[in-house]
Amino acid sequence: MAVLMVMCISPSQVKLKGFQFSEVPNVKRLFEEYENTIGNETITLEIAFDGWNATIEGVQEIELSLSSPTTIPLLFENSSILKFEVEEIEIRGAKANITALYDGRYGLLLLDIEPIENTQRIKISYTSKYQPLFDVNMRDIIDWHIKSTKNSFYLPPEAYMVLSKVKGNLAIKVSSHPSNYTIAGLLKLPSDKYKPLLPEGDTFHTDGGRFYILLGKWNTHERSIKIDGRSVRVIALTDEGEWVVDELAKILKVYSSYLIPYPYDEFVYIRIKGHRNEIEGFGLYGGAAGTQFENLIPHEVAHNWFGIYAELGLLDESLATYTSSLYKPTLEKADYWEGICLSSRDRTPIVDINAVTRKHQTNLYQRGGFIFRSLQFVVGNETFFQGLRELLEICHVKDCRETEKTLNLIKEIYENLTEQDLDWFFREWFYRADYPNFTVSSLKLLQKDSNYILKLNISEENGFVMPLEVRIVTSVENITKRIFVNGSSVLEIETKGRPTMVILDPDDWVPNVNGSSYRINWEKLTFERIEREEREIDGVKIVVN
Ligand SMILES: [Zn+2]
Repeated sequence: MAVLMVMCISPSQVKLKGFQFSEVPNVKRLFEEYENTIGNETITLEIAFDGWNATIEGVQEIELSLSSPTTIPLLFENSSILKFEVEEIEIRGAKANITALYDGRYGLLLLDIEPIENTQRIKISYTSKYQPLFDVNMRDIIDWHIKSTKNSFYLPPEAYMVLSKVKGNLAIKVSSHPSNYTIAGLLKLPSDKYKPLLPEGDTFHTDGGRFYILLGKWNTHERSIKIDGRSVRVIALTDEGEWVVDELAKILKVYSSYLIPYPYDEFVYIRIKGHRNEIEGFGLYGGAAGTQFENLIPHEVAHNWFGIYAELGLLDESLATYTSSLYKPTLEKADYWEGICLSSRDRTPIVDINAVTRKHQTNLYQRGGFIFRSLQFVVGNETFFQGLRELLEICHVKDCRETEKTLNLIKEIYENLTEQDLDWFFREWFYRADYPNFTVSSLKLLQKDSNYILKLNISEENGFVMPLEVRIVTSVENITKRIFVNGSSVLEIETKGRPTMVILDPDDWVPNVNGSSYRINWEKLTFERIEREEREIDGVKIVVN
């Protein structure tokens, strides 16, 4: 059993060690009941890691300016993967008494401080032995996303510091760490957002929010770019190669040109391993984290506009997916995207989705994103992006997290810009969950001198009202016409050569029931090309995109 030793070196300096713990239930709750005290903290860490075990030698210094006796609670955790041992506490500028409590998992040191001088300093020396790869505790949202591996692991606050109720600045100095690892950090902000932090020298400067230290076998690639006359530092911590930082710079510039200029001074990408999936990423305030660049990061970068700068709740996922399509858009990608939409078996209208779940994911991300692509087609490029910019500025200051309210806001923005009623569009796309089915119901081809007259009857069988592009391909020319289909529509067109093909929605603006060459194979869980039924009327091939 430990014995509490109190040494008074001078009247205003006390050393406490060898704490004797009393067992009490629910120590963590007891800790939570204490009030915050204003003060600043500095932590100095020596971190060692052998691939499984992290050993952290720490000194935590708390500076207070108390004028009356106050109890400072200090909490630490012990479990099968974390052995946290407070070795000594030194107090200057005050008299001090300690009560040590333990409940089998958490230890609580209650420091009764009686100030003698204007400034009081508490210095806590400790050792923590932590096994990051075995940690499955979900202490915070971020633990749901990051998994520690030998190549990149993280230290939650519980692993490297004593939790106090002292609120103020917190500086974390990593005076030594394994030299083949790079350090970075994630600072928790209000409303479950995280900001990547890089050390200045060897020190992270935080405002005292929960701070996760990350160590990874990354290379650091950095570029400085100009966006709208402002300098933005782009940093990639990754083992994927230097090209990543160049692609990030491109993405930021592309999104900035369509939406509003990237609103922050820095963008930091951190490569991490996902916790639940092989492929996982999440957007950060001024950055992104993810398991791999190609499929994830364009989406996560977009969250700096939709999600961080403006918060639109679930619609952030639709709009981030849409925005990611602005980076390297190709028709093949649109077809692939459409195929993912059509593969979804979820038939919940977006307005009725309450959470991002596996069931609703495709519906919310891909289908939701594609709807915005269709809206772009309906209102035109210039109006569409102007509307998105207005939406971002409104939702930057206003709470837009309620889907239905925000859909009404979006509708209002575009109705004002186009001076048109757009209720039909929002009703059929957000309040329903199926897709239009456009077909050529009849085709007549007549020869007139050296020209041809093509008469098409185009119908839609799922009750959608939509504009539609129709492309007529002849040996001489391609003619593209825009029609409005409400049930059915007739298109008559004179062409120079004999028409060989009619393409409905050639640029894939609308997700159509028969519009994609791809489907998910639910048995094999693969994404594959499918054979599409080919139609031909009077020697004219009919294609639906
Ligand atoms: Zn997302």
